[in-house]
Amino acid sequence: MKAPVVEERGVVVIGGGPAGLAAALGARRAGAEDVLVLEREHRLGGILPQCIHDGFGLFLYKETISGPEYAERLAEDAVREGVLAETGAMVLDLTPDRLLRVNSAGGYRLIKAGAVVLAMGCRERTREMIEIPGTRPAGIFTAGSAQNLVNLQNLRIGNEVVILGSGDIGLIMARRLTFEGMKVRGVFELMPWPNGLERNVRQCLRDFGIPLELSSTVVEVRGRDRVAGVVTARVDEFFRPVAGTEREVACDTLLLSVGLIPENELSKRAGVELSPLTGGAVVDETLMTSVPGIFSCGNVLHIHDVADWASFEGFEAGRHAAGFLVCGAAAGPRVRITPGENVRYVLPQAAASGAAGLELSFRVTAPARGMWVTARGAATGASYYRKKFARLVPSEMQKIKIRKAVGEDIEVACHG
Ligand SMILES: Cc1cc2nc3c(=O)[nH]c(=O)nc-3n(C[C@H](O)[C@H](O)[C@H](O)COP(=O)(O)OP(=O)(O)OC[C@H]3O[C@@H](n4cnc5c(N)ncnc54)[C@H](O)[C@@H]3O)c2cc1C
Repeated sequence: MKAPVVEERGVVVIGGGPAGLAAALGARRAGAEDVLVLEREHRLGGILPQCIHDGFGLFLYKETISGPEYAERLAEDAVREGVLAETGAMVLDLTPDRLLRVNSAGGYRLIKAGAVVLAMGCRERTREMIEIPGTRPAGIFTAGSAQNLVNLQNLRIGNEVVILGSGDIGLIMARRLTFEGMKVRGVFELMPWPNGLERNVRQCLRDFGIPLELSSTVVEVRGRDRVAGVVTARVDEFFRPVAGTEREVACDTLLLSVGLIPENELSKRAGVELSPLTGGAVVDETLMTSVPGIFSCGNVLHIHDVADWASFEGFEAGRHAAGFLVCGAAAGPRVRITPGENVRYVLPQAAASGAAGLELSFRVTAPARGMWVTARGAATGASYYRKKFARLVPSEMQKIKIRKAVGEDIEVACHG
């Protein structure tokens, strides 16, 4: 039997969302001649084409534009600057030595990449994952799929809605469905604080008089063919429903905005080490994963609240992937970067020993006011960073820069 032809490529980016397009641009601008983006959908832009609200691009373009405009600008730049972008191209498999199995318009093919950037985004948590009891009627949607149906397919998804979870997508959909003439009965959030950005709570709920109930959840779905209502309840500090606080809320639609999961099935196939804290790859300061030549950025690496951060991370991953084509991976001792008190995760998780100008992204575990963020040496206790923050919330990713060279493992913490 004839051996299949293997197409040789330079930098291959998996996913054509803001992170992937920026990675492709970053690679081109750093001198990579052959840069290919593979996108499974029939358009570029990732999740952005369905985000028709504005609020994108404040940091990258210094103005606020809608998601589709943002996607169009990045895609146009990529094509103008010589990136080859293929839509309808689904990557089915990736090996540790960067062999990709791809299904595209031309059929099934094999591609051998000099470097790979993972930019596959994320998916939403579903009802099954959070195990809401009750019947299984129609009318239950994840917030992102409801957004797709309403904004891209012009469908009406119901009349009276309850939203479980106050993530940004749920908040944005509360306002969107109100514009569409639906009645949003309330947003119910398990945590004692909102999970989305403060500006979204203000602009999407408060401005429209939509109630937000914190420390509460949906404990039962009712209805046979279609949702007829849900039962909500308050929860205690261990997130257990408090008996006697149940309340029936009539509705025909339940939207779930209960978390996003980085889409790392291909990363696992390639043997990439994943972090239990982020659900994404463990990376170093070049955004390279544990597998040499495979880089990661955007929502597949960790969930971003703002598309600009996913794009900036993409530019960096692409730049380093282009560097890998020329120099390979740097050898030498590494330091580890770990989260300490009130820090949920910190990224990157590793860096070359002696690296200076390290930029770290982190999220806190609980809201905090007037707290110090510190980075301390694990061996010597030396201070590498110390700054007081007026306000920190889990929904907003923070970035800090360590100017000193780091020659030992460090811990990033947030304390009084
Ligand atoms: C509903 C919603 C509203 C938002 N609102 C805002 C906002 O107002 N302002 C803001 O700044 N940010 C907002 N964000 C956040 C922002 O959109 C994300 O941070 C950003 O889209 C992440 O970019 P990404 O490229 O990592 O992932 P995505 O945009 O999800 O792109 C990933 C791409 O990879 C492709 N892919 C996955 N697997 C494969 C495969 N095997 N083969 C080929 N292709 C593959 C997918 O089809 C997808 O196109 C919002 C996000 C959502 C979901």
